[in-house]
Amino acid sequence: MPTTVPPLLQIEDLHVEFDTPDGTVEAVSGVGFTVGAQETVAVVGESGSGKTVTALAVLQLLDGGRISRGRVLWDGTDLTGLDRRALRRIRGNEIAMIFQDPMTSLDPLYSVGHQIVEGLRLHRRIDKRAARERAVELLEQVGMPDPRRRLDSYPHQLSGGQRQRVMIAIALACSPRLLIADEPTTALDVTIEAQILELLRELQVEYRSAMLLVTHDMGVVAETADRVVVFYAGQVVEQGPTADVLRDPQHPYTAALLAAVPTPETDRAERLAAIPGSVPPLRAMPSGCRFHTRCALAWDACAREEPPLHALPGGRSARCLLHGSGTARKTLDSASTRGA
Ligand code: SF4
Repeated sequence: MPTTVPPLLQIEDLHVEFDTPDGTVEAVSGVGFTVGAQETVAVVGESGSGKTVTALAVLQLLDGGRISRGRVLWDGTDLTGLDRRALRRIRGNEIAMIFQDPMTSLDPLYSVGHQIVEGLRLHRRIDKRAARERAVELLEQVGMPDPRRRLDSYPHQLSGGQRQRVMIAIALACSPRLLIADEPTTALDVTIEAQILELLRELQVEYRSAMLLVTHDMGVVAETADRVVVFYAGQVVEQGPTADVLRDPQHPYTAALLAAVPTPETDRAERLAAIPGSVPPLRAMPSGCRFHTRCALAWDACAREEPPLHALPGGRSARCLLHGSGTARKTLDSASTRGA
């Protein structure tokens, strides 16, 4: 009898709220997806879509926010019900996070060696000397030149790319089963970005970790992820295997994001025009489909009816009324041939 392997991470109906001077706002509204063992799942969307808030909610690192509903199951245990001590055992040990900007995540007062050693000794019974040796090994693995000498460097003495390599070394120190990388290359130039992404891919294979990669870049998704989850205005609007979603998007927003990926034939003005308008503010979500004010395919019903997430063949889903109307295939095809 076939057995199904439960996912490593399972996010169910997640809602995250923040209190603001103008009242409570919901930044994430009913998000759900899974990450399997050794799988890479990319969460993609524009700024303000809720993707980083969701990643932070996994480890309960919400600064000023709270999970108001839903579950975050890690290997079957709901992380939302754990106390601080239990969470500390998981953070940095079973699940590690790589943040956007290493300059603000690394402590400027301590050498990078100290910061790697601290992480190791927090979770492993290991003496200082052995931890330092492991730190050298880790810096070597992340491609740091002259790793033994670099142990005593402070973050400000390193380049942006080197600081991100240190963050990766800290994240990998305890061989986590899941790496959460939140826009890990945003602060880097294009050449270093490619090197860091390649490094992450290699080390993920070597460490047999799963990865949840948060990005706004469809190019990064195409190169990195097994599956993609597309966020818009605090909701999942499409998800599925990366190759299928990129070849044949089932939501107009995904299609628009793909149209915005630069090619040698498109000029910058064309790209910027690909998705008119911007993500609606949290306090002023449109009625009906949250994308209707920007959607080239919107019709009357889109402003009134909130679309459910329709399950589609091939392990895919899309939140668009077209899928309930029976005209999705035809309409999305004709829109893509018109370049919408
Ligand atoms: Fe566009 Fe309507 Fe589909 Fe929303 S429901 S994505 S507005 S077609």
